[in-house]
Amino acid sequence: MTHTENSIQELRELDKKHFIHPTSPVKQQQEQGPAFIFTEGKGVYLQDATGKKVIDGMSSLWNVNVGHGRVELGKTAMEQMSKLGFSSCFATYSNEPAIRLAAKLAQIAPGDLSATFFTSGGSEANDTAYKLARHYWILKGQPGRKKIISRTKSYHGVSMGATSATGLKAFRDFTNSLAPDFLYADNFSSQSLRELIAAEGPETIAAFIAEPVQGAGGIHVAPENYFKEVREICDEYGVLFITDEVITGFGRTGTYFGMDHYGVAPDMMCFAKGVTSGYAQLGGVMISEKIHQELTELSTGTLLHGYTYSGHPMACAVALKNLEIIEQEHLIENAEAMGQELLNGLYRIKQERKIVGKVKGLGLMAGIEIVKDLNTKERFAAPMSPAIVLEAAKQGLICRSVVLDDQDIVVFAPPLTINKDEIKKMIEILNHSISVIEADLASENCA
Ligand code: PMP
Repeated sequence: MTHTENSIQELRELDKKHFIHPTSPVKQQQEQGPAFIFTEGKGVYLQDATGKKVIDGMSSLWNVNVGHGRVELGKTAMEQMSKLGFSSCFATYSNEPAIRLAAKLAQIAPGDLSATFFTSGGSEANDTAYKLARHYWILKGQPGRKKIISRTKSYHGVSMGATSATGLKAFRDFTNSLAPDFLYADNFSSQSLRELIAAEGPETIAAFIAEPVQGAGGIHVAPENYFKEVREICDEYGVLFITDEVITGFGRTGTYFGMDHYGVAPDMMCFAKGVTSGYAQLGGVMISEKIHQELTELSTGTLLHGYTYSGHPMACAVALKNLEIIEQEHLIENAEAMGQELLNGLYRIKQERKIVGKVKGLGLMAGIEIVKDLNTKERFAAPMSPAIVLEAAKQGLICRSVVLDDQDIVVFAPPLTINKDEIKKMIEILNHSISVIEADLASENCA
């Protein structure tokens, strides 16, 4: 439904005055107001208050896996809220959707991950994993094991623990005091992990955490044997291996979980986003059967960690329905097929355009590097990906730019429901948008 000019103007003014936007350019919001005020969505499309329709080439925040406008998820939420809107899961109280979701996750998760601690999102899931890992080592009589190792281009969220684990420096520099005992191994090198553990002393390391494919850090797919080697190193030094599947979980990369590509099972796994396709706020940490048993046997009292919304009945009911949709509509298979289609389209763009360097991706996570010189791979002094993203949005495609850590990358992660025609449209819009930027660059050079 479109709004009148007046009501849009009113919303823009109220937004500027009262709404502090997450991860947004502060001055731009104050000067220009919100880029879009979305009012509805259907499939891969979002529509704003002016009636403008755009392709949601990012599944919003890598999370709307089943696409927009799913009435069945709304109906599930309404039915659950009407029956039982909320009840606590503290003190062993329970509810059916949380129980059934935990059981379902045990069926689909890698390896012997078998028990779930629920949170409201990915950052809380990460903080929970670090605390559970450290608590585990206390119970095991090795309280010295408290350091958490992550990687230099990692993103794990914005709570204090998750920010401290995030390798991307800009996020850590935002605040000047972080949680202690976080270290960063080189992004792609298992040898660097080994050296770091050896240098610090294995008896001080609680866990290593990694995303199967890095998203916010700019679509980095690990070298083929990396995770096998990581698993071996963790086993050798008795370090817990945690995967952060917040983006890669629930079909995004063309398998149920990102780690399924590598045939490696972690000891713990963080998830969020795609578990509900964003229709409700939910995340969690799964732990292996072995760790679950050990925690149970060694525990002397209460698990003193819990969020009010851990095991929220409505969020868990929505998650169950969402997983049913993913399976019934074969969306994981579609993500694999359409991921290939997307990569092929991006390679075609690379052939036609002058500033597109490396094309990369896995399933429906993809990115293109923007370079000034294709041969030397030299980047532009001022990154160009923000201008491309802005132009694409004007032309009807939402994608995202990554400029952190001296990168200049445009990334894509459309809903898993996307079809060939919609991919074709995405590619056309992107190709045209890059050509506009190339023309601007050419005219600047002539001026
Ligand atoms: N881990 C990863 C890999 C993520 O991409 C994100 C969010 N983009 C998070 C954790 C944090 O999740 P949330 O924003 O739900 O707290």
